Amino acid sequence: MEVNKVKSESKTTKLLKKGKWVVLLGAPGCGKGTQSEYLMSSDFKFKVISVGEILRHNKSTIVPGQIKTIGEIIGSGLLLPDEVVTGVVKIELTKMESLIGLICNQNIIFDGFPRTIGQAKALNELACEFNNSIDYVINFEIKEDVLFKRILGRYKCSNCGRIYNDYFLPTKVSGVCDQCGGQEFSRRMDDNEDSLKVRMVEYYKNTYPLIDFYKKSNTLYNVNAEEEFGQVKNCVFKILNEECK
Ligand code: AMP
Repeated sequence: MEVNKVKSESKTTKLLKKGKWVVLLGAPGCGKGTQSEYLMSSDFKFKVISVGEILRHNKSTIVPGQIKTIGEIIGSGLLLPDEVVTGVVKIELTKMESLIGLICNQNIIFDGFPRTIGQAKALNELACEFNNSIDYVINFEIKEDVLFKRILGRYKCSNCGRIYNDYFLPTKVSGVCDQCGGQEFSRRMDDNEDSLKVRMVEYYKNTYPLIDFYKKSNTLYNVNAEEEFGQVKNCVFKILNEECK
């Protein structure tokens, strides 16, 4: 599988680097979450900050300055305000630092953050505050028709959390989890056609411009996310092992 290396940083800078701070970028359903879960258990021992996950855990909280809950905004497909998500990330980094000490040595993945130019600038400032920088921005490229099937077909076992897909990976026996035998399944509140349309509009309007933003800072790597999981994973590993120069 080919990795499209956009530009590389100088070797000297890399040698001085501490923990790898990595942004995973891409449209909804491109596979960022799946890859970051894998990277967490890999030898890189990444800690993952998934803003979407944190927000879903706080879905009943009213969004500061608004009358809607976080869950209502997620369900509509819109993005949360920059100040809110940037605040969430800062709290996570601070928590991490109080638990494990200096986090500039820690490998960290930012999954689904930033999603706007404002957030990207805020992340640069945060990285600076915590004595590090963003060196790898991995952009998962995928066609829209594949995304739609990945998202609209996605469901998980309510008991063990195993992920399935109506189109690509259904349970072997209809209605029974292959892993635990569970018979209850759930879908994400925003995995429906109406929300997805709004999520795609938000993506093109706010997140897509980040590709150019990071290209300018020489940290962007494009990966073909339509390949199967193992191939995408190998590609991500090559990037992180600096084999893509
Ligand atoms: P995800 O789990 O990354 O697909 O995110 C699900 C939803 O959470 C998004 O559609 C947004 O409503 C919200 N969200 C997640 N990350 C962000 C972010 N960086 N900025 C604004 N909203 C976000």
